Formats: sequence, structure tokens, C-alpha cells
Amino acid sequence: MPGLRLAELRGGTTAVTEEKFAALKAHVRGAVLIEEDEGYGAARSLWNGMIDRKPGVIVRCAGAADVRAAVDFARDAGVLLSVKGGGHNIAGSALCDGGVMIDLSPMKSVRVDPATRVVWVEPGVTLGELDRETQAFGLVTPTGINSTTGVAGLSLGGGFGWTSRKFGLSSDNLLSADVVTADGRLVRASADENPDLFWALRGGSGNFGVVTSFAFRLHALGPHVMSGLIIYPIAQAADLLRRYREIAAAAPDELACWFVMRAAPPLPFLPKEVHGTGIIAFAACYTGPMEEAEPALRPLRAMGQPIADVIGPHPFTAWQTVLDPLLTPGARNYWKSHSFVTIPDGLIDVLVTYASRLPSAETEIAFAQLGGAINRVAPDATAYPHRNAEFLVNLHTRWRDKAEDAKCIAWARALFDACAPFATGGTYVNFIPEDDSDGVRRAYLGNAQRLAAIKAKYDPGNLFRVNQNIRPTP
Ligand SMILES: Cc1cc2nc3c(=O)[nH]c(=O)nc-3n(C[C@H](O)[C@H](O)[C@H](O)COP(=O)(O)OP(=O)(O)OC[C@H]3O[C@@H](n4cnc5c(N)ncnc54)[C@H](O)[C@@H]3O)c2cc1C
Repeated sequence: MPGLRLAELRGGTTAVTEEKFAALKAHVRGAVLIEEDEGYGAARSLWNGMIDRKPGVIVRCAGAADVRAAVDFARDAGVLLSVKGGGHNIAGSALCDGGVMIDLSPMKSVRVDPATRVVWVEPGVTLGELDRETQAFGLVTPTGINSTTGVAGLSLGGGFGWTSRKFGLSSDNLLSADVVTADGRLVRASADENPDLFWALRGGSGNFGVVTSFAFRLHALGPHVMSGLIIYPIAQAADLLRRYREIAAAAPDELACWFVMRAAPPLPFLPKEVHGTGIIAFAACYTGPMEEAEPALRPLRAMGQPIADVIGPHPFTAWQTVLDPLLTPGARNYWKSHSFVTIPDGLIDVLVTYASRLPSAETEIAFAQLGGAINRVAPDATAYPHRNAEFLVNLHTRWRDKAEDAKCIAWARALFDACAPFATGGTYVNFIPEDDSDGVRRAYLGNAQRLAAIKAKYDPGNLFRVNQNIRPTP
């Protein structure tokens, strides 16, 4: 392989000898790809169509041995390294330009032990694949709301969805992880083994090594959950949100109710004349016994006269994919996010104002309800510090045409600034866009110093830096 040059950690490029590249290929059971190879384009494609970087080498790993070979190769050559799980990170942190990308997506094993209620998950598994295996036994571990997101990146940053108020974050359910560290060792992180690393992995994102296997705690759920959407015209949003905040404040852990303000997509249960008009859609899921669901959801369903109310018993696996058609890969996306303890009138006014000026047909103001079990963990018990956040807004700007970049990004930034006086000041590490220079500080908050010390122990040379990066500080 004459002429292969890779991006160095310290900047510039370095030549890789034919022998060294051949040795890497010989070690790897999966595939080692360069730009000319079939499969390279697919391997470097990400969910966010705005990210366009070209790794010099992609190592599609078949197992932990391949991960170790790729880490050793990158470290010894002093070249840039990035790690891809499901490829959903909004900042595109799975992709580096000119370095080595470790692609974990071929690692798809899921092993469920229904007796001990533990699931072992390889890092290429998506949320939908995990749900399919665990729901076969009526079990679940909490994850997110889009079935094609990767378990790996999501759970290393925290991970929340419909079941998190009841069962906690994905990272709160992590029992152990196998990790290839920067020195190429494979170590176990758990409450008993390398507990400092275990603490850091639960919210510190991809800074500490490559996780080759996750073990999560499982909980009984389903197979059906009471769930669905209640949709109103956007003109009613201000009144509805004043009622919503009371219902949310009184909600049991079993009830999660999120809302979205956007232009109505052409959903089959919406009248044609509503398509494209402004709506507020409440999305609710009840994770307790089915017979308790009806009374628990009644206040939400009695807020007004909706355009549609499609709450009912749905298979949990189907509910987990219900938003997939709105979140397909390839579009241009720019996100900004805030956390809130309450929803004051001023915040409602800001949201309603900006919902009337959405910059594109696919843009959403997406508001998640957190709290419950998530917030009964101390902020320093794991690396995820946002244990006071009852709500989180994701300003999900989404469009197709590059010519609209400036308009859409400006809208998100302006709304982000307008929400700031009502926010906690923290931000979810998994929602930070590429250009947010203050994002890392707001993501790790009071846990930053401890994370930096653990980083210095496990990755003193900052090999794992293409992420929401923690600088090693002993
Ligand atoms: C459509 C959509 C819906 C989403 N919904 C939710 C939601 O409901 N709840 C929620 O909490 N989040 C949600 N997210 C955010 C999601 O948690 C992040 O985008 C997360 O980074 C995705 O992980 P991934 O493995 O798919 O991403 P990737 O881009 O592959 O990985 C992100 C980063 O994680 C690190 N990483 C990945 N795998 C490993 C590994 N095995 N070892 C070490 N580091 C690793 C790397 O630093 C990598 O750059 C959503 C994202 C999208 C695009």
C-alpha cells in the first residue's frame, strides 16, 4: 500500500509503511478499508448528513481482538483515532478526517439471561436490535426513542427514553463493561473492578477507551404499553403547556410525557387539511400495569379538544419505532439543547414564539420529560451530573438543502439563547453540536475534574480525543 499517509495526533500527516499496514490487515478478522475499497463509503456514512469527513483507514471490527489491533496501530503510529458505534452522534464524532476509524457496527451480538435479568450487548447493536432480543423475554433496559441509534454512544453519555423515569438512565443500568484502553489492554470496569473507570464510563462518553461489551440490568415490561400521541393545533400551545406542567409535576414514575412543536407530518390519522400546519403533539408512554394506565393518562387526555388522540395499548417494540419515519438518516441536522427544572411562563412564551417561526418543514422543538428514577441518583454517583433536570429541550433543526444552513442554524442559536435564562446551565453530552465550544464544560459540570484525573490514568496521551473531549489532568 504505497503512499498511505494518516493524520497525526499532533497535527500534520505521517507516512505509514507498507509493512505496518500489511501487519494491521493480517491481524484483523474483520475488514481494513481505504477510500478505494468497496464498503468504505457506507462505513463512513453517518446519521447527520452535514458531516463529511474521510478517515484514512477504517477498521471494521469483528471482535475485541480487532479493536485491540486498531488501537495499537493508531497509538504506535501516533495518528488520529475515532470510534463509531451507531453513527448517530450529532457532532459526527464517530468520524475523523485522515486518521483511523474503528467501526464497531459489525459487532452485533446480544445475549439475554432471563434468569438473572442481565443482557450482554456488543457495541454495534442498535436500540431496536436490543429491544427485539430483550422483549422476547418481556424484559427491557432503558434506552432512547429512535430504534436506529447505537446503544454504545447513547449509554456512554447517559441515555434516556420512555422507560427512564421508571428504570433510570441506560448508564444507571450498566453493570459492567469490557474496555480496550489506550495501551491496548482489555480491562473490565464494574463496581468491583476498576471502579474509577466504571464511574467515568457512566456519562463520560467515549473518552476512556473502546467498550467491546456492555452488561445491562433488565426489568420486566410489556409486551404492550399504553402509549400514543395526542395532537392539537399550535394555536392552543400556550394554554396546553400551562396544564402540561402541572400534570408532569404530579406524574408517577411510570408516566413519561414528551411534546413536540412542529409542522404536522402526513400521518395517516391526521386529516389532510392539517398536514403541514403547526401542531403541538404530546407523546406519552405508561410503563406500569395496564389496568393503571387509563387513570394515569386521563388528565393528559382531558386537556382539551385534540385533532387526534391515538393513545392505546401498543407493543413496546412498535412504540419504540414510532418516531423512526421522522428521524431517517441523511438529512442536514443541527441541534442545541437545554435542561430545565420547571417550565415557567416566560419559557412557554419563548417556545410558542419560536414555534411560529420554524425555519423548515422538518424542524422540531422536542421537549423530553426526565426526572423520576433518573433524579434519585446523586450527581456525583456517576459521571452524568444532571440529576436536577426534570425536562430537556432539543432544538432539532432539520432540513435538506445546504443553501438553508445559515437560516436554520441561526434559528436554533437564537432560540437557544432565548431559553437560556430559564435553563439549568447544564447540557446533555450526547446532544452537543460540532461548533459548541462551551458544550464540554456544561456537559460534565462538577464531575469534570474527577473525569480529567481518570482520563489521565487511562488515556494520558489523549488518544481518544475525537469526542466531547476531556483533557487528561492528573
Ligand atoms: C435520531 C436520534 C435520536 C436520538 N434519541 C435519543 C434519545 O432518545 N435519548 C438519548 O439519550 N439520546 C438520543 N440521541 C442521541 C444519542 O444518544 C447520541 O447521538 C449518541 O452519540 C449515539 O450513539 P451512537 O453509537 O449511535 O453514535 P456514534 O456517533 O457512533 O458514537 C458517538 C460517540 O460515542 C463514542 N462511542 C461509540 N461507541 C463507543 C464504544 N463502543 N466505546 C467507546 N466509545 C464509543 C465515540 O466517542 C463516538 O464518537 C439520539 C440521536 C439521534 C440522531
